[in-house]
Amino acid sequence: MVASSSAAAPLAVSCAQTNNKRAREQKAKRHGVTRLDSMYDYIIVGAGSAGSVVAARLSEDPASSVLVLEGGPSDDLPEIAMPAATPTLWSGPLTWDNATVPQQQAAQRVIPWPSGRTLGGSSSINGMIYMRGNKIDYDNWRDFYGCAGWGYLDILPYFIRAEDQQRGASAYHGAGGPLHVEDQKYQHPLSRMWLEAAIASGLPYNEDFNGDHQDGVGPYQMTQRDGRRWSTADAYLRPAMQRPNLTVETDAYVAELILDRDRASGFRYLRNGAVREAHASREIIVALGAVKTPQLLMLSGIGSADQLRSLRIPVVVDSPSVGVGLQDHPMVLTGWRTPSVRNLWEEITPRPCTFGSARGAVQWRRLAPISEALAAASAIAWHQICSSAPSLGLRRSPSSVRPRNERSALSWAQSRCGAVDA
Ligand SMILES: Cc1cc2nc3c(=O)[nH]c(=O)nc-3n(C[C@H](O)[C@H](O)[C@H](O)COP(=O)(O)OP(=O)(O)OC[C@H]3O[C@@H](n4cnc5c(N)ncnc54)[C@H](O)[C@@H]3O)c2cc1C
Repeated sequence: MVASSSAAAPLAVSCAQTNNKRAREQKAKRHGVTRLDSMYDYIIVGAGSAGSVVAARLSEDPASSVLVLEGGPSDDLPEIAMPAATPTLWSGPLTWDNATVPQQQAAQRVIPWPSGRTLGGSSSINGMIYMRGNKIDYDNWRDFYGCAGWGYLDILPYFIRAEDQQRGASAYHGAGGPLHVEDQKYQHPLSRMWLEAAIASGLPYNEDFNGDHQDGVGPYQMTQRDGRRWSTADAYLRPAMQRPNLTVETDAYVAELILDRDRASGFRYLRNGAVREAHASREIIVALGAVKTPQLLMLSGIGSADQLRSLRIPVVVDSPSVGVGLQDHPMVLTGWRTPSVRNLWEEITPRPCTFGSARGAVQWRRLAPISEALAAASAIAWHQICSSAPSLGLRRSPSSVRPRNERSALSWAQSRCGAVDA
């Protein structure tokens, strides 16, 4: 989300900064804030899916200086690269501890809501399914919500430009872009059987959910390269980090926007136990994800005035649409034991292997099943009476893990939606 942008922004921001410089310096001194000496042209907060792409694009111009502030650590943990280890990333240090309020439609349960906290953001912990979304959703944004330029045919060229599709270029796909998309290297026998059963039950086979139509059943394609996760940090940020005009700070928790009246010009953030400030002469870009972006705006006084006052946050901009209208796709998990078929862990090793151990990592790298992601096969069905677009997705995953992780995987599933253990 771009919080400060206009053709006149550079001039307007730098004048305002000169006028307010002394006041800010005094305030910073009072609060023990460390000010960064340098002024950047652009500051991006959040090095996730969106932030990594924007950082790469803006730093293409060698004359522009770009700072990225990421609240999490670097993304060098081996589990990030191993698709089958994905569930182990959904709690712990690489995840923000988000949770919903008690959900009325889910027996008042509080639902954990993982989101990535590292370079690449949620693309470093997600299921890697390459699914662009349905054409009708984009067209609805354009036709009913005033989002000019967001119709499916408007954005298709950007999907194509981003992509490095293993199957090659076509009307719907690109080759040679930064984002690698490939077929799964390994298919668990149960995934194959599940697909056969779905086809036998009457669902049409669809070999490309991002092609001409989306309904049907088939294996997903993944954002992977040679069976390894290919996050937006891999695709965009890391290559751009070779440029001298791009600075990336990790473990930099952004706490507040710096506002000159109603214009945002920088951020206050915490790093190495100190409060710091960074200022931008052109634009700031807030890319903290669907939950943390509105949270930062509201903590900075931008949101519904009534709500901010009730939380004793001084109101800077009364903007009632901040922090409302979130939509997500609820998922109901059912877990099944399959004693006659070896699960993913048993396919890999007869003994439990420990994630993170050197021996475990080597074992996992050597064996094809590490590339089997969580949701290996899929059926996307539509409810023709209510909707002209698919409204239901079914997924099969071979990722029941045993013996070490089985309990935690099941309790994770149960904590979300009361999974069946049958
Ligand atoms: C468990 C899971 C599975 C998913 N599976 C899939 C899938 O298979 N296919 C698919 O297409 N999509 C999937 N998604 C969704 C997809 O990953 C997200 O929609 C996408 O990554 C969101 O991008 P973003 O840039 O908006 O946010 P993020 O990628 O989450 O980036 C936000 C960044 O901001 C940082 N940040 C947050 N707060 C602060 C702060 N205060 N200070 C500094 N930094 C901060 C975070 O650490 C993070 O790096 C999944 C998501 C999750 C969580």
